[in-house]
Amino acid sequence: AKAKGRNTFHFYSQELDAAANERLYIENELRIAIKERQFRLHYQPQVNSKTLEVIGYEALIRWYHPEQGFIPPDKFIHIAEATGLIVELGAWVLEEACGFSTQLQAMGKAGNMSINLSARQFKDERLISTLSEVFKRTNMPPHLLHLELTESMLMGNVEAAIAQLHEIKKLGVALSIDDFGTGYSSLSYLKRFPVDMLKVDRSFVKDIPEDQNDMEITAAIIAMAQKLQLQVVAEGVETKEQVEFLQKNNCFIVQGYFYSPPIAGSEVAAFCERLKLK
Ligand code: C2E
Ligand code: CA
Ligand code: CA
Ligand code: CA
Repeated sequence: AKAKGRNTFHFYSQELDAAANERLYIENELRIAIKERQFRLHYQPQVNSKTLEVIGYEALIRWYHPEQGFIPPDKFIHIAEATGLIVELGAWVLEEACGFSTQLQAMGKAGNMSINLSARQFKDERLISTLSEVFKRTNMPPHLLHLELTESMLMGNVEAAIAQLHEIKKLGVALSIDDFGTGYSSLSYLKRFPVDMLKVDRSFVKDIPEDQNDMEITAAIIAMAQKLQLQVVAEGVETKEQVEFLQKNNCFIVQGYFYSPPIAGSEVAAFCERLKLK
């Protein structure tokens, strides 16, 4: 048993080494990538399923590594977060997304621009000044920016979080709770958070219409959002049945592969035109 224990330990430690090495590799490459601008943003349309209008876009970061090719955000965002590099990277995302949004506005394709804020950025004391500087530099009307936050980011020090949310709201920015229903949260706090929108997580949507529980949870989240006068967006919508279920339950804003995956900025205008013809 002892020998086995040792082998097991050896096995785990090799796995840990591999994980630690990958982490270190990504961390080093991230520093280079920021300097060499290896990132792009893609934009996923948020569509009103009733009017087929695009009401906004979510900016999602894409990393094209010169040797590794595409590295998905789930492989590096948490490392950028842990090392603090996310503050610099997040500032780039903000500026790029706002710059693109003002281009869209100039083309008569206004809409919200949502960006994902990480916990580290949210807590960063420079957040408010970064936001106002970017608004000035890019001519972005603050009310078109939506910042997506997760429940877990808000639940640590709730009073500090509420204060920070109010500071952000003072700039005129809108706030969304991302992945709603998956994190630690307390409904009693929800009404104290000055947020504008809930995003129903894909995990609840993906098995509609097969999973009865998921349908009930989704319907309940939508009903609750409406009672609290929050806008609600369903994420990860892939099928017509899901769109219809959501419509029946009064949720008209949807985001997901059914309408469009995240696309390059250069494809956005053509997407809007195609949608109008549907
Ligand atoms: P998220 O904020 O929940 O973003 C939605 C994710 O679902 C995106 O994955 C999107 O491509 C994917 N998705 C959208 N529609 C569908 C669908 O119909 N079916 C399926 N299966 N997936 C769909 P992505 O782009 O890989 O991003 C993953 C996560 O990485 C994001 O989850 C977000 O938490 C994080 N992330 C992405 N960009 C940024 C960023 O600029 N800053 C920060 N802090 N985090 C980011
Ligand atoms: Ca998001
Ligand atoms: Ca989400
Ligand atoms: Ca997510």
